[in-house]
Amino acid sequence: MVARPTRLTPPVECVRLYDADAGLDGVIAIHSTALGPGAGGCRFWSYAGMDEALTDALRLAEGMSYKNALAGLPFGGAKAVIRRPEGEFDRARLFRAFGRAVEQLGGLYVTAEDVGTSVEDMREVASESRHVAGLPASEGLAGGDPSPWTAQGVFESMRAAARFVLDSDLAGLTVAVQGTGNVGADLCRRLADAGCRLVIADPNPGRRDRLAAILGATIVGVEEIASEKAEIFAPCALGGALTPEVVRNLKAKLVCGAANNQLGALEVADLLMNRGIAYAPDYVVNAGGIISVSAEYLGESQSDVTDRVAEIAPRVATLLDRAARERRSPAFVADEMAEEIIVGAQRVAA
Ligand code: NAD
Repeated sequence: MVARPTRLTPPVECVRLYDADAGLDGVIAIHSTALGPGAGGCRFWSYAGMDEALTDALRLAEGMSYKNALAGLPFGGAKAVIRRPEGEFDRARLFRAFGRAVEQLGGLYVTAEDVGTSVEDMREVASESRHVAGLPASEGLAGGDPSPWTAQGVFESMRAAARFVLDSDLAGLTVAVQGTGNVGADLCRRLADAGCRLVIADPNPGRRDRLAAILGATIVGVEEIASEKAEIFAPCALGGALTPEVVRNLKAKLVCGAANNQLGALEVADLLMNRGIAYAPDYVVNAGGIISVSAEYLGESQSDVTDRVAEIAPRVATLLDRAARERRSPAFVADEMAEEIIVGAQRVAA
């Protein structure tokens, strides 16, 4: 078995976000600008402290560098993380303050939605900065909520991976979906249309219960979803879904989902392989959202987005095939392919 190569460690630029009056407290991490401005969403979440927020921002920004490179986008990797204030706060004011900080970077960082942020929040950012996407789309142009594009890429990747790994169409398969938020819910609808049986879990009952009623999905507890009897496990909640313990108890033969940073630890990729479980790398399958966001920022058309999202599933199939032939984790093969692209751009720039 080949050890996981160390990931690229360019000098990461971190910009502290702080405006006490507006309740803004967070960080922008810019991991790489070799391919273009650092692009990645803004996460709005409750963190115990700044250290935790910074760790998350660094990890997510690194992931964006790899994701953007492999998706063939002219962007580097970055991410903003804002700590959700406790108690009452003026949300519009907070995001306008964030917009001013983004504008001050002069285009080095391009923001959009991520977990906890909405189109409405990005509208506030846009009132202060040009360097934002994920805004309502104009006729024929790319734009709007990136989640449906993410869900489409995940769905098509899952179909391609099921053919490769299980030699099966999706119809009749059981998929355990962890998280029924924007992407997870959309994915569930597509899977139900394709004839899948669904098992779902989410601590937030609103959308979860509606989905169960409409799609006939079975609800299980958040602690049980990963060990449910299913052919496919789809992590669509937060990062770190695949811990060594989770992998030991997985019954699925394929993991393919939208969540970023699914591998809780480096050795998890090998644990999956040793158990004969195929892993469709998170940042390859979930690139639909950033494809939409980048096209919007560049003023491209919706058909550009359609074409690029359609390339995700064949890329996943190629990657799984190469990984199987080389007896390596698809996670490592994807990293290597992304690094070749980033390092190539660094060489051209030097
Ligand atoms: P979201 O906030 O709309 O949904 C996340 C859902 O996960 C929520 O419903 C939440 O209640 C649920 N959840 C939290 N902890 C859970 C747990 N332990 N078990 C089960 N469910 C749990 O976010 P989203 O936009 O749907 O994104 C989901 C994931 O996909 C995130 O990791 C995000 O970074 C990633 N992603 C999203 C996009 C996009 O376009 N929205 C693009 C790429 C990657």
